[in-house]
Amino acid sequence: LMHLTKKLIEIRSMLLSIDQSDALKLPSIVVIGSQSSGKSSVLEAIVGHEFLPKGNNMVTRRPIELTLIHTPAGAGEAAEYGEFPALGLGKIIDFGQIQKTLTDLNLAVPASEAVSNEPIDLRIYSPHVPDLTLIDLPGYVQIASLDQPETLKEKIAALCERYIREPNIVLAVCAADVDLANSPALRASRKVDPLGLRTIGVITKMDLVPADQGAAILSGNRYPLHLGYVGVVCKPSGKKGRKESMDVVARRGDEFFRQHKEEYFNGASLMVGTDTLRKRLMEVLESSMASSLHGITNAVQLELEEAQYQFKVQYNDRRISPESYVAETVDALKARFKDFTTQFRKPAVRAKLKSMLDERVMDVLEQLYWSDKRVGEFTALGEDRRIKPEDVEPYWRYKLEAASSLLTKSGVGRDATLLVADGLRTLIDSIAAGEPFNFHPRAAERLVEFAHAILRDRIPLTADQVENCIKPYKYEVEVDDREWENGRREAVDLFEREVTMCEEKLKDIRRKVGGSRRLNNLMGYVRSLEERERERKKKRLAMVAAGEEEVEVEEESYKYPPAQIVDARHAALYADRLSTLKLRLTALKAKRCKAGPESDLLCPEAFLNVVADKLAYTSSMFINIELLDQFFYQFPREIDSRLLYNLDRNDIVEFARENPVVRRHLDLQERKDKLEEVMKQLNSLSTLRADVQPAPRRP
Ligand code: GDP
Repeated sequence: LMHLTKKLIEIRSMLLSIDQSDALKLPSIVVIGSQSSGKSSVLEAIVGHEFLPKGNNMVTRRPIELTLIHTPAGAGEAAEYGEFPALGLGKIIDFGQIQKTLTDLNLAVPASEAVSNEPIDLRIYSPHVPDLTLIDLPGYVQIASLDQPETLKEKIAALCERYIREPNIVLAVCAADVDLANSPALRASRKVDPLGLRTIGVITKMDLVPADQGAAILSGNRYPLHLGYVGVVCKPSGKKGRKESMDVVARRGDEFFRQHKEEYFNGASLMVGTDTLRKRLMEVLESSMASSLHGITNAVQLELEEAQYQFKVQYNDRRISPESYVAETVDALKARFKDFTTQFRKPAVRAKLKSMLDERVMDVLEQLYWSDKRVGEFTALGEDRRIKPEDVEPYWRYKLEAASSLLTKSGVGRDATLLVADGLRTLIDSIAAGEPFNFHPRAAERLVEFAHAILRDRIPLTADQVENCIKPYKYEVEVDDREWENGRREAVDLFEREVTMCEEKLKDIRRKVGGSRRLNNLMGYVRSLEERERERKKKRLAMVAAGEEEVEVEEESYKYPPAQIVDARHAALYADRLSTLKLRLTALKAKRCKAGPESDLLCPEAFLNVVADKLAYTSSMFINIELLDQFFYQFPREIDSRLLYNLDRNDIVEFARENPVVRRHLDLQERKDKLEEVMKQLNSLSTLRADVQPAPRRP
């Protein structure tokens, strides 16, 4: 029979870990009573150790789920110990330590809340305890002290009410010296169990009332309980500072009842003493569990069928494990990364660098040629066939050299390296932000962190290396015919793209202001404004020179809305640029430019394009060696060493459960597994079931 309770207690713990619904609950004994009724003393007498928090300021603030597990006697040195499964502290042999831990856990509940619904799970293994599950609840309070919330009384009552529901057994603790009519425990139990079918009364402090009165209480005539009353004396010595073993206390209790055997034993056969209480609890729990067995088996069967069905329907019976999820995630990450790396092959990188340099070429041309007042003269040079390259003025030779060195000395090493590194960074960031890493913010953060760290490491080295390798171009750039032709063609492409871009912008503005006529008017107006502004400036300067008083000229009001004036100014810039671009395009397409590198003075665009191309080629080569190869080698290794190898089992589970899809799958799978296990155990018990009788009613 003992075997049955033990097994069912195990099953009860498993069911509790599956879910908290009432349908899947096996009974436990719930201990309620008012403060100072002697609740703790009774529980400690049952366990045989002092282990509950002591103090006069509400030391029980959370339910304590106390599971007692009977172990065979003499099974080695650590036969008696406690465990807090949720805390992972291992076996605690020192019951003083258990008491301290319980005190800490209780006091961690803020005084402002006073009680918490979250139970503390404590298991005690001992050869001296029966197999029992007991739930200790905060004692009912009469008046709340000043630092306790007003609602404390209701909070405790509500908490107790939740626990004393079916199928639990209620252990109502009442002190003998307090009228049972005033016992909050009995009152609460009567509410949920009016016939007293699942309530045991425990009358403490029997030593404080005359024996005949005590016997009258235990006979239960006034408030009959189906499971009866047990009287106990758990009186400590009363001498302060002296620790007594629980044996001594128990013996004192036995002694008390022996002294009054007349009243308690003769004829009446009342239940007295902690030993009797222990046995009674075992009987009651056992029979209650046995009678729950049939119902619980059916309930588990139903839940199991549902879980199996859902598992089939939702996941087609596909099992997963946190480990497999982590492995898959890492594999997918590496594969994804590898896919992306194709974006960083040499030709792609080179094209990217080239377009960065193309922009720079445009800037250089703008700065050195197009904003030069002599640009007209320069263009005319190109058209004049009589002028030989060697006759061109040194001015233009200096210009070309300046342009070339502006390009080569513009910090290409650093900028090119940063451009590629930025590309990598964006790639990693997008991987980290996408599925499934959006579910794993900490892993994503680590991923980004070590990717950035590798880059930070490599960037200065790479930049220096690239800068070193393009150094020769800072002094001289040799161009052969093929390179020239290439450069010229690319310049033509570049200019044509630029022309298209300018035309698009002009078209946009034209649409915005309402047609080309309107835009022409606007631009004419803007030009006249500019003209007038120039005149005014000139006049002012003349006046200042002549020593005349400066006169503020009234701003005249605009004929058009200011936003359109701004648009017109932009349009004027684009139009100017467009005409320059078109002129230069003609030059680039002319015979003169096609002739070859000796025309470099007259076709700086083609020349600079060749320079840009050489810079891009050399840069991409060294960025490939110093940055990309290194990164592609290191990154997957860092994934292994930083995302994987330092994960323990808990981390892996936690990681997998961060993904809601995986979490749901794992939850259902675990639920199904546990229910299957419970079902197996329940089935193995069915043979025992037949022997169990319900607990007899006490006379
Ligand atoms: P709890 O607040 O309900 O847990 O009550 P305790 O177990 O802490 O007991 C309250 C007080 O009653 C303590 O001072 C105990 O020493 C005392 N007490 C407990 N059991 C007995 C008993 O059987 N006889 C006497 N005389 N005092 C007891």
